[in-house]
Amino acid sequence: MNNPVVAEQSEQTSEPGVQGPDYEVVVIGAGVGGIYQIKRLIDLGVKATVLEGEDDLGGTWYRNRYPGARFDSESFTYGYSWDQEILDEWHWTEMFSPQPETLKYLNFVAEKFGLREHMQFNCYVEKMVFDEGANTWTLFLKDGRILTTHFVLTAIGLLSVPTLPRIDGVDDYKGQAFHTFNWPHEPINLTGQRVAVIGTGATSIQLIPEVAKEAAHLTVFQRRPNWAAPLNNREISEEEMAEIRSRYDEIFATCARTPGGFEHEPDRRGFYTVSEEERRELWDRLYDGPGFGIWLQNFVEIFMDENANAEFSEYIAERIRQRVDDPELAEKLIPKDHGFGIQRVPLETGYFETYNRDNVTFVDASETPIERITESGIQTSDQHYEFDIIVYATGFDAFTGAFDRIDIRGVNGESLRDKWADGPVTYLGLLVEGFPNLLMISGPQTASTNFPRGAELAVNWATELLEHMWSSELSRFEATPSAEQDWFDHVVKMYEPFLLKTAQSWITGYNSNLDGHEYGNTRYNIYNGGGPKYADRLRQEAQDGYQGLNID
Ligand code: NAP
Repeated sequence: MNNPVVAEQSEQTSEPGVQGPDYEVVVIGAGVGGIYQIKRLIDLGVKATVLEGEDDLGGTWYRNRYPGARFDSESFTYGYSWDQEILDEWHWTEMFSPQPETLKYLNFVAEKFGLREHMQFNCYVEKMVFDEGANTWTLFLKDGRILTTHFVLTAIGLLSVPTLPRIDGVDDYKGQAFHTFNWPHEPINLTGQRVAVIGTGATSIQLIPEVAKEAAHLTVFQRRPNWAAPLNNREISEEEMAEIRSRYDEIFATCARTPGGFEHEPDRRGFYTVSEEERRELWDRLYDGPGFGIWLQNFVEIFMDENANAEFSEYIAERIRQRVDDPELAEKLIPKDHGFGIQRVPLETGYFETYNRDNVTFVDASETPIERITESGIQTSDQHYEFDIIVYATGFDAFTGAFDRIDIRGVNGESLRDKWADGPVTYLGLLVEGFPNLLMISGPQTASTNFPRGAELAVNWATELLEHMWSSELSRFEATPSAEQDWFDHVVKMYEPFLLKTAQSWITGYNSNLDGHEYGNTRYNIYNGGGPKYADRLRQEAQDGYQGLNID
């Protein structure tokens, strides 16, 4: 097997007759997962590189530059946990960091450890083929280069392929139009502009209040409302940051103990064992509290029991009615087809009050559907609207989209795209049978948690497996068919107790703009067992000597 120790960092192209692959490990993607992964590999002295399709690092935080973009995780639970100096030096200025600060943070980390020199930008991988004779992968890049590597680790994100609406005329529009993921890097002056936003998911719910503050007029096209609750963001002072720093060990220990990887712990008193007054007292507190508390510090029954969910949903509906002046409009903003928390809950800052503004128009696209995009605006079944800017906040080809874009060929030329045509099938969300020496960081069917908490877990597990390979002079690993089937069955079973299984959401694979992603064609995209159970399962697999893998 090839010596993994770094030779000179190289950008060579494979040539016939040259011994050994170009790299021991190629990491695809320079976002939150890829940055940590390359740090682990270079610390081990491994000849590794990151290939990033964009012209800079940051992944999600490089792309999503729309006004209002920020994460819904408390900043200090979102940062990396693996380096004391980062924890000591970095100051989060807000409870929920806005996109520019998060991107700055990722650059700070990359620069601190000299990670940029191990990254190659504008390197979009179009195709990768497993070479069964050499146990290596050959990567074909968009720029024409061909690279070989022993192992590939994908860190390509779960929401990194935006989808535009399948509405006639999208290409006819003559004004400025873009998906939120492609919000231009140069600032856009919305002053005096007539802006349309299509879609009302988590992205849009962050965007709408910000656009309304600036634009001459904002028109929102909503097909289905989403439940949303206040983010309750605020600044973090120097003193508070010092206090947070002193608690980092405790913070990360709590994140490791809770199902979602946050500090929010479910209320385990039991929905039916406390009185209605006590339930309301908890909900009032959570509604005024920060972040996902309203979702994750709630009674666990909310997620599984229709009656409990209905009572809580009605509580939130009341809060919405109190915030929207027009009662008829308030009703349109309250979901009737699903309960609170069944879909990923968007968090908002003044979202509902935005509809009280004179410069905001709400269009119910379920009653008067969008018929086509025209040269100058949007035609619904009811009327034509003229716009200067159209923003598509229409979601993503979640989880599998980023894999489908690469033509990945495993054993016997099998295509991963074909294997996953009806939804992902994995072993532990990290491996796929038939695709040896490939590991996925934050791939489908990993625990759905605060993103970096799950990514760090995956990076650590993947790195440990590679270390095992190197120390035992092994050259090929692959999930066994039975291990993969067992994991898939378990993933499916873990959807059963939860109302989430009925969600018309990207979490269950729904996307009205993609064939095969119709509501009802459930794709088992996430592991619902929670972070701690998932981490235990990973630990067990390593401790047992990787029983679910064939290793040669
Ligand atoms: P999304 O939740 O999938 O929402 C897409 C929206 O577009 C939906 O309202 C959908 O309506 C609408 N839509 C799609 N096609 C349409 C069409 N042809 N006509 C009219 N409406 C159409 O996407 P998203 O808002 O980008 O959020 C995706 C995920 O990104 C979130 O759930 C979250 O996990 C993540 N995110 C995170 C943060 C954060 O951390 N703070 C912020 C933003 C997003 P239907 O429901 O009717 O299909």
